[in-house]
Amino acid sequence: MTLDSTAVVLTPEQKGLRDSALAFARKHLDHDPARAEEAGGFSRDAWLQCAKYGVQGLPFPENYGGQGESVEGTIAVMEGLGCGCRDHGLLFSINAHMWACMMPIHQFGTNAQKEKYLPNLCSGRWIAANAASEPGSGSDVFSMRTRAVRRGDDYVLDGSKMFVTNAPVADLFVLYATLDPEYGAAGICCFLIEKGTPGLTVSPPIGKMGLKSSPMAEVSLEGCRVPAGNLLGQEGRGVPVFHGSMVWERACILATCVGSMARQLEECVRYARERSQFGNPIGKFQAVANRIVDMKIRLDLSQMLVYRVGRLMQASSPADMESAIAKLYISEAYVASSMDAVRIHGGYGYTTEYPYERQLRDAVGGTIYSGTSDIQRNLIARSLGL
Ligand SMILES: Cc1cc2nc3c(=O)[nH]c(=O)nc-3n(C[C@H](O)[C@H](O)[C@H](O)COP(=O)(O)OP(=O)(O)OC[C@H]3O[C@@H](n4cnc5c(N)ncnc54)[C@H](O)[C@@H]3O)c2cc1C
Repeated sequence: MTLDSTAVVLTPEQKGLRDSALAFARKHLDHDPARAEEAGGFSRDAWLQCAKYGVQGLPFPENYGGQGESVEGTIAVMEGLGCGCRDHGLLFSINAHMWACMMPIHQFGTNAQKEKYLPNLCSGRWIAANAASEPGSGSDVFSMRTRAVRRGDDYVLDGSKMFVTNAPVADLFVLYATLDPEYGAAGICCFLIEKGTPGLTVSPPIGKMGLKSSPMAEVSLEGCRVPAGNLLGQEGRGVPVFHGSMVWERACILATCVGSMARQLEECVRYARERSQFGNPIGKFQAVANRIVDMKIRLDLSQMLVYRVGRLMQASSPADMESAIAKLYISEAYVASSMDAVRIHGGYGYTTEYPYERQLRDAVGGTIYSGTSDIQRNLIARSLGL
């Protein structure tokens, strides 16, 4: 398998983690995502299989039901899963649950919050959704309008959240609101809101281009009372909670796509050797070979970038710029390589019989979620002092 590329030298332990995850995914998760797409289907069964394997709890402490795995070890598992599992909607849902929901609870939660929520989220019994975007605020996320007003021991929330991954199946919402839009970033608060809280409603699933087995919806809040004990972090200090979770998400969310790129490359090499036109295997045509070379270079660079940021995060070193670089490069590389995979397979590549049109549709999402590619460039420019 092309996962054995020499772009990054893993320790024997990390390699073992990656290989085991690949074997697990091949055995238990390699279901036909085309059928999952048709059924519109998030697979709770596959979700629970992953939880049983320990995926959702990978980097979280053992006393909360996690695996206590290092960041690089977690990335190795994610890469293996991305290579073996073709259902990238499922993997995206898991990533959204881990990085934008569990990680902020782990980093900013009180002991009571961690004890209440992390074991349920590690075990997969509960599914979490992060609700920051709104119909009128995406990239400019802190211009949100959803209001939180303190009333006695509660906050009362009113507003609307958009593009919330996992919302239709979520048990817990990590939701951002403002004390007053006039306060800007200083008014942002983060709340933990359980499913079934009166005043919180979830719309029917929103149809989208790809990642179809990862359900998404709009979340509305109308007089939704949330106990003050469910504030995550301090009042008006939601920005560090959001930033922290975004650095983790940008760093790690695309490790599964790196695994998928390795599988794409291997399949394209095989096809280019087997498919003949004009009396030659198509791989003998320089145009086709060059496309495959570009795919290989993108894969190697993606691996280097994701493990680099993993190393920094493991060492608790600042990684704002490196996580934005990894997010930007890998997401765009996955789109470009998926497009190349379609081209290499010609008419077959365009059909739903082959996985490449779906991978292309899935890949485009990566250039938008966790901040668009334009926003990653802005973050990198800011880190460079521009
Ligand atoms: C698959 C998927 C899953 C998602 N899951 C979640 C989720 O779970 N929770 C959640 O809260 N949100 C989620 N989102 C929403 C996502 O975070 C936003 O779509 C994204 O931040 C962009 O916001 P927007 O859609 O409002 O676009 P806009 O911010 O309106 O941007 C429109 C265009 O303008 C560009 N632009 C805007 N501002 C600038 C600027 N300053 N400089 C340069 N260009 C700029 C953008 O790059 C884009 O091209 C998800 C989105 C997708 C596609």
